[in-house]
Amino acid sequence: MAENLHECCGVFGVYAPGEDVARLTFFALFALQHRGQESAGIATTDGRGLNLYARMGLVSQIFTEDSLSQLRGDIAIGHNRYSTRGSSRITNAQPIVVGKGENTIAIAHNGNIVNAEHLYQELSGQGYTFNTSTDTEVIANLILSSPEKRVVDKIRYAMHRLQGSYSLTIMAGHSLYGVRDPLGVRPLCLGTIDGGWVIASESCALDHIGASFLREIEPGEIVSINGNGIESYQGEVDRKALCIFEYIYFARPDSVINGRLLYPARLAMGEGLAEEHRVDADLVMGVPDSATAAGVGYSRWSGIPLCEGLLKNRYVGRTFIEPDQRIRDIGVQLKFNPLPQMLDGKRVVVIDDSIVRGTTTPQVVKLLRRAGAREVHMRICAPPIRYPCFFGVDMATRAELIAAHKTVAEVRDFIGADSLGHLSINGLIKAVGLPRETFCLACFTGDYPIPVQLEMDKLALEAPPDEYNPLGVKQR
Ligand code: SF4
Repeated sequence: MAENLHECCGVFGVYAPGEDVARLTFFALFALQHRGQESAGIATTDGRGLNLYARMGLVSQIFTEDSLSQLRGDIAIGHNRYSTRGSSRITNAQPIVVGKGENTIAIAHNGNIVNAEHLYQELSGQGYTFNTSTDTEVIANLILSSPEKRVVDKIRYAMHRLQGSYSLTIMAGHSLYGVRDPLGVRPLCLGTIDGGWVIASESCALDHIGASFLREIEPGEIVSINGNGIESYQGEVDRKALCIFEYIYFARPDSVINGRLLYPARLAMGEGLAEEHRVDADLVMGVPDSATAAGVGYSRWSGIPLCEGLLKNRYVGRTFIEPDQRIRDIGVQLKFNPLPQMLDGKRVVVIDDSIVRGTTTPQVVKLLRRAGAREVHMRICAPPIRYPCFFGVDMATRAELIAAHKTVAEVRDFIGADSLGHLSINGLIKAVGLPRETFCLACFTGDYPIPVQLEMDKLALEAPPDEYNPLGVKQR
């Protein structure tokens, strides 16, 4: 369920002359809707002009036959957004188009630029103007500010200056580019479709449009696609830091990241929880949908029968569909309905993906108790989250993270559960089945892959503002 934990975006790009690239992008954005529900947009080009349609809302609410038919071209990029930097408003919807004439680019971004404020000040001083309050526009202007001639060299120039996470799709001229930051914090993959090429945050988007998965775009890699085919430019990589929450929660279970299908990884998390935190109980259930697979894993390993004790209203969307606490609170009740006939008098093990602020887990425990559960034992796939994220996950300041200030026993009492157990970091790594050095684990350990100390100190002291505006851009 991942209360209060949010990924920021899904990106997509397609180069397919002769195909309806806008429609392909529309269906791909549908498949990536779980990565952002505040706004969505598509930009297309035929190499001469550029068309853009971006609105607030879900993909299904935004695009019509009419809007799609006007998005003509051979290349398209698309974006689903949840705001982490920059407020939730239409001017911040992506793709963003920046520049003039031949020097125009359209860009879609998943991630968070840690040194955006510094770069914003520098670019403003050089006369670059900003129409949004997003770090994505900083990336775009940084690319355009490069003295290099070729777009790929301009992107390289920007990559040398950018710190943080960025998986990008970019259109410039009659070319499509896919870019992944040197740490590889956010996923990005490459596929083919009927002689064309596609780039997407997750492989599930390729499956839905009939594209074939080719490979992942590597950390530090730029892929350039145009009429001459595809070229790859690999930059230097010191260390990798793929966000482990892609495996725990963000990505869909039918996506493949780093060669690992997510569903069995989540099953293994449940098995690991059963191994590390066994308890005598009558039933096991995973909070749908993000912990469903882990619930199956716990049941398999422990032998405790699996049950669907909470029914989910699938049309409500994610709990934090609006970045507003009041709506999030109501969302839990709107979203789940317990089954008293299954739960009455039972000792229940409940598997969930994470506890962040500790605001919604108590409501889930209450719902289950009200439905008659005699004991509620919470088991959590993520280790305790003690440090904030600076790489595009909206998980609050350190002051708001419940595990930063309370022991596991104190959190157990706070959420009203009979017991609480988190999967250990080693257990999590074992479940994912990839080397520990592959991952960013900073929100558990405080060991960030790049220096973020200044930002961390600043955010730890600040109460969360109503409208977080890190770039100092006047809000309109
Ligand atoms: S700090 Fe946590 S949420 Fe952020 S990128 Fe690292 S693992 Fe992911």
